[in-house]
Amino acid sequence: MLHTLLFCAIALAPADVAKLAKHYTDSVHQLNEKHARDPGKEGEQELARKLPADAQKALEQLLAEKSSPELERALEDCSEAALDLDRLEDFQKIRARRLKDTPGDAAKLDTALSRPRFVLRGVGGLDEDYLKSFAEVLEGVLGAYDEVFGFAEFSKVPGKKLRVRLRLVDKITAPPHFGPEFPYHSEIDFPVIDAHELASPTADGKFLFYGLCHELGHVIAMWDTPGKQEDFHTWAHYCGVTIVEHLAQQKSPPKWLKKLRDAQWRSLAKEREAAKEHKPGLDSDKAVMATWIALHDRVGPKVLAAAMNEMDAKEECSRVNRVRYYTFKAFKKALLREVGKDEVKRKAVEELFR
Ligand SMILES: [Zn+2]
Repeated sequence: MLHTLLFCAIALAPADVAKLAKHYTDSVHQLNEKHARDPGKEGEQELARKLPADAQKALEQLLAEKSSPELERALEDCSEAALDLDRLEDFQKIRARRLKDTPGDAAKLDTALSRPRFVLRGVGGLDEDYLKSFAEVLEGVLGAYDEVFGFAEFSKVPGKKLRVRLRLVDKITAPPHFGPEFPYHSEIDFPVIDAHELASPTADGKFLFYGLCHELGHVIAMWDTPGKQEDFHTWAHYCGVTIVEHLAQQKSPPKWLKKLRDAQWRSLAKEREAAKEHKPGLDSDKAVMATWIALHDRVGPKVLAAAMNEMDAKEECSRVNRVRYYTFKAFKKALLREVGKDEVKRKAVEELFR
């Protein structure tokens, strides 16, 4: 009897189902929007806890609602919103409910995993175990970035976690890429052809691991704008080879690195050799690449990162869709500020940014 009563109480009209979903998604959107306007020191975990109780209640109501096409649509919207705010518990509840309604759809429903610095999403049938092993790789890569450079912030919106969308595909037609279009976080799209193991390069020669390290370079900083070449797309390449090499040179390499062999083909040492043929400069890809290597060797990657961190803090960059874009003019100034009275480094910066 009680069960029947409850059932009657929660059988909502389609319009009300949509309204509840909108309440949840709007609440997420509002929190994200407010944070993006004034991030302060707030991290995403903290931000996620601010979701109002009535929004949470709206979701709980939906989860108790009876199956219908409207409910499926509503749950899909809420699932997207949950991922936008690192509400992984909500995401899992929604996924479990959707799976209950369509038990055969496990591979069609995305998976997700949250870690302190990022949120992973598995698309096309990647299970949570896959995400867990990818998380180890990404944590290792971010750790290497910390050791070599020390960037204060990866995501374009401070405090928001990075996202990686891992997509299982039949054939890799495009390399990993940085998607600047998401309003509240930085996201990397990462194609995968083996649902069990990440190996790189792939059998057909795709450097996925280097690609990941390269894309994080774009996440950190963009330079070229339409009609104006600044770094000739070399910064991300420099970051990529530097990180790949750093990881390969560790005294006791982690287990996950075994199948990631890109360093044999992509390394700073190889680029340093190639750069000997070119004078550092700012007017072509080869010249700018030689400049990055000279800066790395003469000024040091820690100084480059510190200068960028300072530029961020002072907002000495332009923002396109909140993505950071720098110019060499501003970067030179920031580098000089950073090296201070160190004459040797000062001379290097002056020479390299004539
Ligand atoms: Zn690139």
